[in-house]
Amino acid sequence: MTPSKPLELLAPLSGVLLALDKVPDPVFSSRVIGDGLCIDPTSQTLCAPLAGVISNIQDSGHAVSITDDNGVQVLLHIGLDTVNLAGQGFTRRVQEGQRVEAGQALIEFDADYVALNARSLLTLMLVVSGEPFSVLASGLVASGQPLLQLSPSEAIDVMDEEEGEALFSKPLTLPNANGLHARPAAVFAQAAKGFKASIYLHKQTQSANAKSLVAIMALQTVKGDTLQVSAAGEDAEAAIKALVALLAQGCGEAVATVAEPAATVLSATLLKGVCASPGSAFGQVVQVIEPELAIPEHGTDEATERAALARGLLAATEALRTLQDKACGSAQAEIFRAHQELLEDPTLLEQAHSLLADGKSAAFAWNRATLATAKLFQGSGNALLAERAADLADVGQRVLKLILGIQDSAWDLPERAILIAEQLTPSQTASLDTRKVLGFVTVGGGATSHVAILARALGLPAICGVSADVLGLANGKQVLLDADKGELHLEPNLAEIEHLEAARKQQALRHQRDVAQASLPATTRDGHHVEVTANVASLQEVEHALTLGGEGVGLLRSEFLYLDRHRAPSPEEQAGTYTAIARALGSERNLVVRTLDVGGDKPLAYVPMDAETNPFLGLRGIRLCLERPELLREQFRAILASAGFARLHIMLPMVSLLSELHQARKILEEEALALKLTELPKLGIMIEVPSAALMADVFAPHVDFFSIGTNDLTQYTLAMDRDHPRLASQADSFHPAVLRLIATTVKAAHAHGKWVGVCGALASEALAVPVLIGLGVDELSVSVPLIPTIKATVRELDLADCQIIARQVLGLEEASQVREALRQYHAATVETSPVVEH
Ligand code: PEP
Ligand code: MG
Repeated sequence: MTPSKPLELLAPLSGVLLALDKVPDPVFSSRVIGDGLCIDPTSQTLCAPLAGVISNIQDSGHAVSITDDNGVQVLLHIGLDTVNLAGQGFTRRVQEGQRVEAGQALIEFDADYVALNARSLLTLMLVVSGEPFSVLASGLVASGQPLLQLSPSEAIDVMDEEEGEALFSKPLTLPNANGLHARPAAVFAQAAKGFKASIYLHKQTQSANAKSLVAIMALQTVKGDTLQVSAAGEDAEAAIKALVALLAQGCGEAVATVAEPAATVLSATLLKGVCASPGSAFGQVVQVIEPELAIPEHGTDEATERAALARGLLAATEALRTLQDKACGSAQAEIFRAHQELLEDPTLLEQAHSLLADGKSAAFAWNRATLATAKLFQGSGNALLAERAADLADVGQRVLKLILGIQDSAWDLPERAILIAEQLTPSQTASLDTRKVLGFVTVGGGATSHVAILARALGLPAICGVSADVLGLANGKQVLLDADKGELHLEPNLAEIEHLEAARKQQALRHQRDVAQASLPATTRDGHHVEVTANVASLQEVEHALTLGGEGVGLLRSEFLYLDRHRAPSPEEQAGTYTAIARALGSERNLVVRTLDVGGDKPLAYVPMDAETNPFLGLRGIRLCLERPELLREQFRAILASAGFARLHIMLPMVSLLSELHQARKILEEEALALKLTELPKLGIMIEVPSAALMADVFAPHVDFFSIGTNDLTQYTLAMDRDHPRLASQADSFHPAVLRLIATTVKAAHAHGKWVGVCGALASEALAVPVLIGLGVDELSVSVPLIPTIKATVRELDLADCQIIARQVLGLEEASQVREALRQYHAATVETSPVVEH
């Protein structure tokens, strides 16, 4: 766009004005990024030269862009090579998307530090949108003084739309040490501008116009990111070829030729990822490539296109209903039910209809609307919501194919296939033919994604988060997938294959035996009983748990009961749900209901929250509920309605302060009084924050029980995001630091006569059972399908031995040593007697 009247840009700093030609850096002096000025600063606060919106601020705080309402875009870059300081010396005062006034402080910087540690302090102000200007000052300037006057002009519109059929490059790994910061981004954008095609750079589901420097910087890429280039237009093919080569060479920066993150590639014969579903398989590579769909942009007339969209939606709803009916488990059915709800999302439909009103075709309108919403989810900075973007893309494709009349043909797969894909959709996963597919490997996805849940339900070994190199493996190549270790062996030897095949057979036989004996109690050989209960999120799961020998519910994740609702369930509906679950359990079994654990990785559509910079350290769990006490009060009331049908326990999540427990108990007592209950249910807390574990002796007198959430306890103890794909192998609950906090908690609880459970994923690991029992844990609340395995493991142990091994591992240095010690113990006890086939 073009400014309608001359615009004055103010000096962002005080200092000495220099012409751009004087800057000792060709990227700036050659004006590749844009024309402008340079200031040798004497002040230390960078201020806005114009009013507008912060279109990008680099995480490292050294560069910021502002776009005004007329499309004028100005980039401010403090110092040269300051990206290498990784944020040191800079304090950001504004956030991306924020509106700022001319003269407002944007970034403060420590001039001494920057001058000493970077190449130069020279600061650039560049008009990247391309308007010509005249300079209003010279020599020494003061911050806020008028500096440039922009003339209205035909600015180059680089924000062209990608229309027609786009070609996509193969995914490639970004080699630049500091990602695509200003300099390489400028080189890339400049090269893209040399082509007529509309070109986009993609990072997961985020896309940037490749001709816009600011859009590329806004992708906030880092080394090791998987990127793709797409182009549409006459020279698309040439553009992709040139730009991919440029990216691989570092866009003007020196880079190593092998640019894989060390964590994901161990050697040329082994690719590392994260276990999404356990097990192992030996088979042949089958690359999964979905063909691009040709989508006409313009429709015939609005009424016809509306009808086409309505038909597509109806057909998709019916297909999803059939899939729910045929689902082989509650998890699978739930996923397709959630997909069905997405089809009814009013915002999504509104967007599609407004595109139809603009003359677009049904396919185009629907595709645009789903992509835009998926992008919104992806950009939310919230892992769980980002994973729902994959569900939306999946259901979007389903409807799209129905509108276009494309038959979803079953893949023609060879025997013993190990599927390799950038990403599988939940629909693709659910429809895999398990007679032919032995497992799969994906570049994207996470261990908590719906695809992972489905793979576990199908018993298919799978790993995710693998380097994009895997997409280059030849079809038919024989590979060994060891999902338990998160590994894909590219050159497996016969001994490895035989060993894993034998182990897999043993595991299958053992599992059959454990399920047959699931109703036996979990009592060690020397007579110590451990309660094995279930982690559940629905009534169906409770029923399933009981058939598998579950002795109660140790964790009802109440926030998952109404995950996809946009409006809060009524108090009656909530009470009905808790009562139905309590009735299913009966008065002899424990029901531990955890109050809403919203925030962090768990958004809840009907509890809207402000975006947070650090959601895991923000308003999570009990903190949010105490900030909105009505929410907690209403939930307590609904839970209390189920008192008497089961042994009711209420559990508070994310407690870090004693005062939180006191405040929640007061509300609970008031609600119990209002309902005229004579007896209060048991009240306990999750131990998932180190402060609660370390102060367990202070909490213990005020609770009836503790349940240790090892997922969060691990992330907060080791300061590692529980969903970070690159930290997945280090954020290990077997770390002695986590085990020591468990030991502290149990000791404090038992000193006050209170029981302790573990409901985090560590309890579902057979390897961890000896150490947890040895530390004195009284209850293991585990994922439903694993109940028989965990009970069987307990039956093969001796409490006295467990106490010895527990003491031993607490003294080790790292998680890997703990795992190794427990593996040896496991092999010597649990695995000594092979199960034989009958
Ligand atoms: C945990 O943190 O270990 C836990 C059980 O809670 P969630 O996984 O639901 O956060
Ligand atoms: Mg938790």
